[in-house]
Amino acid sequence: MPVRVRTAPPGERKLSWWEKLHFPAIFSGMAYTLGRMFKKRFTVQYPEESVAAALGPEFRGRPVLVVENGKERCVACGLCARVCPPFAIHMQAAETDDPKERYPAVFEINMLRCIYCGLCEEVCPEEAIVMSPEYDFVFRSREGAIYTKERLLVDKKDLEPRLKWLDSMRNPQFGKRFRFRVSNNIHAVKARGMVVEGDEAVS
Ligand code: SF4
Ligand code: SF4
Repeated sequence: MPVRVRTAPPGERKLSWWEKLHFPAIFSGMAYTLGRMFKKRFTVQYPEESVAAALGPEFRGRPVLVVENGKERCVACGLCARVCPPFAIHMQAAETDDPKERYPAVFEINMLRCIYCGLCEEVCPEEAIVMSPEYDFVFRSREGAIYTKERLLVDKKDLEPRLKWLDSMRNPQFGKRFRFRVSNNIHAVKARGMVVEGDEAVS
């Protein structure tokens, strides 16, 4: 019966004599482990130790409503409820004394549904709902998981790091007036022909 000799598959590097001993790989692994033993540990003994200090402003904890000058910023536009993928937000708008202003008479977030995606924060035109650094909260019933408006309101000063970070991430063109060429903003072929070259308008 012919003896089959196992060789390295084509294209695979052949081990040198030194590598075939395997001791270099074993010792280098042990040296790495030994080196890590004297370095600063990243492991946190949660929940005895808090991880809050290790979290940056980009961390997305539970969504909250921003309170500024004793009043919620929310104008009850409903965008956050509409964009929320798991339909975790329920809100009802009400009129204020100012006919141009509205406020959320009811604002609830079902934390059993929330997936901390941050889309509500992203679409909010008022920066009224933001992702707070709060990550350790518990509830013992389904009702307890419904965060009502009173539980969602958080003062602006407690959310400063996140608000500053959001500000730094904002598109620099956001909210700026700009001049644009009418010719760039006309889509109908017929209308394009009517534009004089160099014609400009202020938005
Ligand atoms: S973070 Fe995402 S899932 Fe949670 S309330 Fe906001 S949009 Fe909904
Ligand atoms: S998107 Fe902002 S302003 Fe609009 S309802 Fe939600 S929290 Fe309020």
